[in-house]
Amino acid sequence: MYFPRLYPDELLYSAIARCRVHLGMESHKGLLAMLFGDTRVSAVTDLPSHLQALAENTGLDAKELVANHTLFPLYAPFIPQQRRLKLQQAMLANDQPGALGLAGASMALVKWPERLRCCPLCFDEMMTIYGEPYWRRCWQIQGVDACPEHGCLLLDSSVAFRRAQRHEFHAASPRLLPSGTKVVTADEGAIRLAAGLAQILAFKGGESPDYGRWTNFYRRLASECGARRGQQVQASVIWKQLQACHSKDWLIANGLYAVGTPPWLQALFRKHRNAFSCLQHQVVWASLRPGKHAGEIIYEACHCQAERVGSSSQPIPAQPAQIRRYRTHWEKALKAHGTAKAARYNGGQAIYAWLYRHDRAWLVVANKARCKPQGNHRHVDWSSRDKALVRCLVSIDKASTEVLMLPRRSRNWFLQQLPHSASVEHHLDQLPLCRAFLDRYAESVGEYQVRRLTRALFEDARAGRHSRRWQLERRCGLDKSRITTLAESFIEQVGGLD
Ligand SMILES: [Zn+2]
Repeated sequence: MYFPRLYPDELLYSAIARCRVHLGMESHKGLLAMLFGDTRVSAVTDLPSHLQALAENTGLDAKELVANHTLFPLYAPFIPQQRRLKLQQAMLANDQPGALGLAGASMALVKWPERLRCCPLCFDEMMTIYGEPYWRRCWQIQGVDACPEHGCLLLDSSVAFRRAQRHEFHAASPRLLPSGTKVVTADEGAIRLAAGLAQILAFKGGESPDYGRWTNFYRRLASECGARRGQQVQASVIWKQLQACHSKDWLIANGLYAVGTPPWLQALFRKHRNAFSCLQHQVVWASLRPGKHAGEIIYEACHCQAERVGSSSQPIPAQPAQIRRYRTHWEKALKAHGTAKAARYNGGQAIYAWLYRHDRAWLVVANKARCKPQGNHRHVDWSSRDKALVRCLVSIDKASTEVLMLPRRSRNWFLQQLPHSASVEHHLDQLPLCRAFLDRYAESVGEYQVRRLTRALFEDARAGRHSRRWQLERRCGLDKSRITTLAESFIEQVGGLD
């Protein structure tokens, strides 16, 4: 029976759609009857089923279809071997629905873009080489926004990734793209990520590392980047590196962001009990193993033995220049923040962790020189402590001044952000600079009311709507009897709001 030759990296869905075009068939159901011997087969883009029947009718190799023309390879390396085999079986069979569940849809490992996407430059090249375009797999991965070959942003077509008309196959065509769109170059991070995920798609290994091997692999990664303290992994150190590599907007758009260290990242570096998505793996690899081929990483994980007890205390030898650089950074941080603890709280955690692992003796001596005697406060140098703390307060103020979502930045709120806040509060009479700062910058009730109103007005402006005064007051939780004169005059200045 006729079936078109599949192109490199083409989705099976795409070839079936082309088959209908080549045969000039109007009816989608007629096509299904012909290819699968069954009209109830769904037009699934990522993890289709009934592939054995299709293979028998067309002379194709079913397993080769699964490996090279579906999104199966995006899930296979990350689920245990047994489940991988079951998933493959469900895709080959006619009567085993639930491929999505086996791939991890119930745990939200399977996420997909809203629409089928494509690269306009690839479309042009395909027209020249093959005389027709087709849907490539590497464009249809959640989180991938760039073409790994041309480095331009992908375009959304008008075809939904999962459709209401479940039996329709739409062949790729420039007519399905929005008209007049320009080719836009993607940023480097997006291109690297697209390339990494395309490598996972192309990886041909038949073996999946089990949870234990993935656990070992991530422990090794944590050691390499200095985020280990004995058996403990400091996921916050790794989170900082991730944020340096991927933009906040992108992390939010893909459900990977959290204030503080995201729980998924902490879980990835603990003992694995569940599978993680290819995107979660890939963002970490892109940050901690930049430039390493995804296939090599999966292969490494397959063979990752548990560490011998005690081996985690053997750091990888560091270069002298590297040690000098880290020492200088840490000395600067100590100077700026007064104590080792304050330096760690103020962005020095990664440097601290690295030195702790590679240059601990020096670190202990350097910190001791800065250490304040404990317990007997007569020996405390209050003046230098005051200076260090007020510097902390200024940077806390700077970092939080534009964040409209925060609770009232009261005197207490500022104090709570400091290390040893109870002790600072207790000794405020010996800390004149801190006192002056708090008197001047702690937010009054009136200022807080103005901030809440500002936030609500911003939201209105962004949504293009206009709220009445009573609506704003209700949204901001402003009681009529408690409105301060400051908030009152703010409302008057923005035009009374009615
Ligand atoms: Zn392209």
